[in-house]
Amino acid sequence: MSEALLQVENLKKYYPIKGGKFGKVSEIVRAVDGVSFSVREGETLGIVGESGCGKSTTGRMIMRLIEPTEGKIIFQNRNIMELSKHDMRKARKDIQMIFQDPFASLNPRHTVGHIIEEPMIVHKMGNRKQREARVEELLELVGLSAYHAKRYPHQFSGGQRQRIGIARALAVQPKVIIADEPVSALDVSVQSQVLNLLKDLQKKFNLTYIFIAHDLSVVRHISDRVGVMYLGKLVELSESEILYTDPKHPYTKALLSAVPVPDPDIKTNRIILEGDVPSPAHPPAGCTFHDRCPVAMDICSKERPNFKVLDDGRMISCHLYD
Ligand code: SF4
Repeated sequence: MSEALLQVENLKKYYPIKGGKFGKVSEIVRAVDGVSFSVREGETLGIVGESGCGKSTTGRMIMRLIEPTEGKIIFQNRNIMELSKHDMRKARKDIQMIFQDPFASLNPRHTVGHIIEEPMIVHKMGNRKQREARVEELLELVGLSAYHAKRYPHQFSGGQRQRIGIARALAVQPKVIIADEPVSALDVSVQSQVLNLLKDLQKKFNLTYIFIAHDLSVVRHISDRVGVMYLGKLVELSESEILYTDPKHPYTKALLSAVPVPDPDIKTNRIILEGDVPSPAHPPAGCTFHDRCPVAMDICSKERPNFKVLDDGRMISCHLYD
């Protein structure tokens, strides 16, 4: 595979919470706390974790829809953290986003044609006629029809609305698409259709995806590599096949054990995690997973494990592999 198209280094997002009489900062919510990864051209990196683990914030920071507190985002050898607002707007042409709720992300007062055309207007692409022709082409590309351009979002099903969202993201010919839970709101049968469409489009246009989901089973078939996040940090990142067949981090094991297996003859040992995910305002000392980890050791509550690379190329943050 080719070298990294996008690289994220030590990305952090801290939210100060003000409290008390004088409005002083009383605590800090560490929504994302030092995340690093790279994505190669044409690959899909899945990012998985429970709600509140920081995966969506990470995706939005790459677009700079949320300003990072710290860290670097290198895209095509440029640190996009250093770009002015004007230059960042231009860079967004190359990095587009697909959202979880296609209904909420499509303006109900605009026709589908206008919704798909809008990013091309923003980026001054083509004249009106050319853009209209491109809208028709895009609608057909995502499995809809040219005449759908005149309709409004409420006239479509959830799956069709997500196809419109995909057409809009593709309108400006991006290199990277950040898909934030793009199929979570859809029925299972529709999910696989949308996933297959994303795969086909990737092949056709050599797209690079960052695919964010809370469900490991959803990202399995679309991702080349998968990163697992817990409480604002990546805890394991590896080639998909390795991660699914031989998970090493206790949190990944627990998440995978909860994925239903379609074959009733295969017995799985579900690992039930005790307690809730701790507040990112008060992350536990040492390994932030230690108070829920079924195999925690003494060192785990004292020292934070480093992110290290194992022989099979996977990166992991766990004292079991020191
Ligand atoms: Fe469990 Fe310790 Fe590994 Fe954390 S470092 S996942 S607590 S074994």
